[in-house]
Amino acid sequence: MRNKSISLCDKSFEVAKRMPNFSGWIRKQLLAYQPKVEVKVEVNKRHTNKHNVCKNCGAIGQHWTLDCPTLGAVE
Ligand SMILES: [Zn+2]
Repeated sequence: MRNKSISLCDKSFEVAKRMPNFSGWIRKQLLAYQPKVEVKVEVNKRHTNKHNVCKNCGAIGQHWTLDCPTLGAVE
């Protein structure tokens, strides 16, 4: 986990203070903010099964960048 400070006003600070898992909620919001983009998978024609295998995570078939361990897989 890494840290990043955020600024809150008095009211939002009071709300955040009462939340049981403020950091977890923030993480969830940030991940939801990340637009879902389909990873382009590379077809390895040397494979006899002809599956489209992601060159980043080895997953078979089209999948979302959020499901891919390497977010840099976009494009
Ligand atoms: Zn992948």
